[in-house]
Amino acid sequence: MLDTLRQIADEVGHANDLQGALNLVTGWVKQTMQVGVCSVYLRDPGQGDFVLMATDGLRPESVLKVRLAPGTGLVGLVAERQEPLLLRNATDHPAYRHFPETGEELYTGFLGVPINYFRKVQGVLVVQHRQDTGFGDNDIAFLVTIASQLAGAIHEAATLGDDRQASRPLSDTLYFRGAAGAPGVGIGTLLTPSPYADLDAVPDRDGRDPEVEEAAFRKAVLAVEEELGKGSKRMADLLPEEVRDLFDVYALFISDSGLIDDIVARIRKGKWAATALRAAIDERSAVFNRMPDPYLRQRSEDIRAVARRILLHLHSDSRDPCSYPQRCILAGDEVSLARIADVPPGRLAGIVCRHGSTMSHIALIARSLGIPAIMGAQDFPFRRLQGSTVVVDGYEGRVFTDPSPVVLSEFQRLAREEQQLVSSLAELRDLPSETSDGTTVPLYANAGLASDITLGRNNGAAGIGLYRTEFPFMLRESFPGEEAQYRIYRSILEACDSLPVTMRTLDIGADKALPYFPIKEENAALGWRGIRVTLDHPEIFLTQLRAMLRANLGLGNLHILFPMVSRLDEIEAASALLGQACDSLKNEGIRGKKPPVGVMIEVPAAIYSMQHMAEHVDFFSLGTNDLTQYLLAVDRGNEHVSQLYDHLHPAVLHCIRDAIGQARRTGKPVSVCGEMAADPLGAVLLLGMGADSLSMAAPAIPHIKWVIRSFSFSQARALLDQALGMTDAGAIRSLLSTALENAGLGGLIRAGADILPGCRDQQTG
Ligand code: PEP
Ligand code: MG
Repeated sequence: MLDTLRQIADEVGHANDLQGALNLVTGWVKQTMQVGVCSVYLRDPGQGDFVLMATDGLRPESVLKVRLAPGTGLVGLVAERQEPLLLRNATDHPAYRHFPETGEELYTGFLGVPINYFRKVQGVLVVQHRQDTGFGDNDIAFLVTIASQLAGAIHEAATLGDDRQASRPLSDTLYFRGAAGAPGVGIGTLLTPSPYADLDAVPDRDGRDPEVEEAAFRKAVLAVEEELGKGSKRMADLLPEEVRDLFDVYALFISDSGLIDDIVARIRKGKWAATALRAAIDERSAVFNRMPDPYLRQRSEDIRAVARRILLHLHSDSRDPCSYPQRCILAGDEVSLARIADVPPGRLAGIVCRHGSTMSHIALIARSLGIPAIMGAQDFPFRRLQGSTVVVDGYEGRVFTDPSPVVLSEFQRLAREEQQLVSSLAELRDLPSETSDGTTVPLYANAGLASDITLGRNNGAAGIGLYRTEFPFMLRESFPGEEAQYRIYRSILEACDSLPVTMRTLDIGADKALPYFPIKEENAALGWRGIRVTLDHPEIFLTQLRAMLRANLGLGNLHILFPMVSRLDEIEAASALLGQACDSLKNEGIRGKKPPVGVMIEVPAAIYSMQHMAEHVDFFSLGTNDLTQYLLAVDRGNEHVSQLYDHLHPAVLHCIRDAIGQARRTGKPVSVCGEMAADPLGAVLLLGMGADSLSMAAPAIPHIKWVIRSFSFSQARALLDQALGMTDAGAIRSLLSTALENAGLGGLIRAGADILPGCRDQQTG
């Protein structure tokens, strides 16, 4: 049975379209179970009805004609009850509805099972037969197993946008979920990749004249080289240096003479230029695709992005002149840097990618450009939405399609209000971050790119509370050496003048992978990451520490922070290595003051060692992102459990309160640098808990300063006490939202965060 199941799942996975996949399933199941009929009904996302999509056994003309509302007919009943329904004589059942066009009256034995995908019934799988012997337990087990195995594959096939989706109605205003890649609201016209750039659609064809084909190919390569050069120049003013380096990755591919020679060789053997290109790129991208590391897999996307541009030029006769709307939303499986660079300045309003996460290159770039972006919106059928108006809600990670006038004007209002809010909060820039009863809570910026430093300064940050050194490491092709790191750190410390900068030592592993240092683990979040990696690689750690210490010479604003610490001996070992780095510099005649050293409290176990850790460190920094992940046992990067990830969960609040309490007992300062600090609701609670400072993405600083200045410490304390007495994150959220509303900060609780009237989640209906 396992073999049959594997074969079915495999075939569905490889089917070209949903209909093909469903036909395969019904045929296979009918044959394997030796029944008279196997049918699949799928839920119409527009109306919620269950529609007969494929059958082997019923009359083919009934496909798409039979529709059952939830709760009606036997199929509707299975869907509603979400459990198998087994009937020896189906026609006797009160819910039975007769559809003469199907010819099903011949079949009395009925077995239907729901096809569930993450709690949501997406369809019903039915088998029927003539004999009145009925089905047995084994049949139910088999069908349930098949339905569960197929749910993911059917979901994939149903949503990975292709033409068949055109038959599915979009309701008034649908929205699709993804990850919030870059904050903001973007409204504009959707621009999808040109169909002429669809590599997969290139047929296997021979060329007429190899010389003509080769000339056309070389001309196309030249044109792309030129475009990349121009684009790079255009981006030079927009992007920080390390992000601009990424642009060179594309140029690297195109200057790869091995690749060009390979394609030309195929052309000379008689292939059409486009076919030769597709075949060579397929071969190379397959190699990258097989790599377990997501950042290496990203290279496959890069190489395909370059190839698509060449393809466009090969098809230049038939090419659509690409005209950019005034407000343009770029969408695609992925959106390349080159595509961003092509958009005329001032017209890019948003980005939606079906692949990727908040850690993807494009999310970083979108954040540094200040363009709202959504990543990993897997279900977003962008191909059929070309030219339509969409709203990108980069705060909540949602994209709204063809918004109704009400929804549109609501988001326009939000965008306007945001703009006004940003302008009005600008006047807080130089005011202290102080409560009405005189408690000061300085606000720092989190940074990873050079542009974050400028943004932080523009927003009145008191310094850099968390500089994630892994970012510059991620954007390179190999580990940066001491000199390269020195230059990066020095420029950051200098850019902040005398303001303090907390540099975290390399925190790689789990979701933060380096392309040149793949770490493949089953359970990566609990594996080799952060300080565990750098302690195992003193050569990497010492190089980084030396570069930081050298960068600090004559400036003195460096603080060093150790990530992912779960044991006291890790701090002891890290401190010893820091001592070694200082000594080695001293031996070279480079004498500097040892900077203050801190430890991140982001693993629950660390909270219970804080008293001892305090003997080795000067400050604590609470990483609420990982603390929430580890306390709730919810992988922060897993979209299937993301609704369980909540920093307002009562257990998380108690835990953070305890950690801050521990820090206070040691007399060492404690700051909070996770996302919770940037959440106005979370910030009130952190204030009440007595956090000494908060660190957040630079654009959030004015918002949080407004919060701090609008509350008194005692009010925040009282709210915290109330919240800690609650058992449910929802109740805590509404308590705090009301408090913010009452304090006149309603503008910070975005209306768009709620589901807007008339809008439906594409996944949950
Ligand atoms: C955290 O875990 O809260 C944190 C700030 O670190 P990062 O998000 O980089 O893991
Ligand atoms: Mg962390």
